Order: sequence, then structure tokens, then C-alpha cells
Amino acid sequence: MEKIAKEIKPVVVDVVCNRCAKSCTTVHDIREFAELKANWGYGSSQDGESQESHLCETCHKEIVSTFKIPPTTTRSVMGVA
Ligand SMILES: [Zn+2]
Repeated sequence: MEKIAKEIKPVVVDVVCNRCAKSCTTVHDIREFAELKANWGYGSSQDGESQESHLCETCHKEIVSTFKIPPTTTRSVMGVA
């Protein structure tokens, strides 16, 4: 005999851009975003802090365009990296 309990799990329903506060969900109901994660350690003014941010495609493009060295870009073909 199985005992069953109803369990409510948190579900991500949207991702919001930390920079502009807009939804990262596209018109095709797909979430497109960049993640920025940082773990600050000894020697940092933020020692012991961890941060996680999300950026929409527009904000990501704007921020990346300010880089002196552009990010490494690869292109996948039909889901193959
Ligand atoms: Zn944004």
C-alpha cells in the first residue's frame, strides 16, 4: 500500500531582468536570459557574499557591448553545441 501526500513544490513561473525589471519570457513563451553569478572570497570587500542576477537579452547586449574584450561566442546548430 502506498501512502500519498500532496506536496506543493515551488515552480519558476517567470524570470525578471535585474537591470530593467522586465520579464525574460519571449513571445514564444520561452525564457531567454543571462545569469550572472559571483562568489566573493577572502581579499574581496564582499568577502563571504554570493550574488545571482538575471539579465534579459536587451540588457545583456547593452552591457556586453561595453566590454573591452568581447565574450567568447559559440553557435549551436539545432540544439547541438
Ligand atoms: Zn533587462
